[in-house]
Amino acid sequence: MANDCLFCKIIAGEVPSTKAYEDDTTYGFMDISPKAKVHVLLVPKQHYTKVSELAEADPAELAHIVKVAQSIADKEFNGSYRLVFNTGEDAGQSVFHVHAHVLTGEMMEE
Ligand code: 5GP
Repeated sequence: MANDCLFCKIIAGEVPSTKAYEDDTTYGFMDISPKAKVHVLLVPKQHYTKVSELAEADPAELAHIVKVAQSIADKEFNGSYRLVFNTGEDAGQSVFHVHAHVLTGEMMEE
């Protein structure tokens, strides 16, 4: 667990969240400020700051997150979803624990 990491605290249950998915390596919870009808954040339980770091250290976990995103979209909608990893402050990353935004539950605007 990284010091002062909001998502590490959410994974540990120290900050409340609405759980959407959990297994041994991955936690999913509803975004507090949803940008789609269903907006889930998927995070590895281990702390990595950005998606390229995760890809380097644990590619199987990154592939797992993609599969979980698909399963959420299959369950919540018709299998269509948008998967976003904001990377770096200038791209809108505000929490530096890698997270996949899974946006689904409705047709997406372009
Ligand atoms: P980023 O901007 O880093 O790509 O995404 C961070 C996301 O975390 C944002 O969509 C924001 O709404 C969400 N978020 C920030 N703080 C909290 C929180 O305390 N709880 C939950 N559930 N989501 C949060």
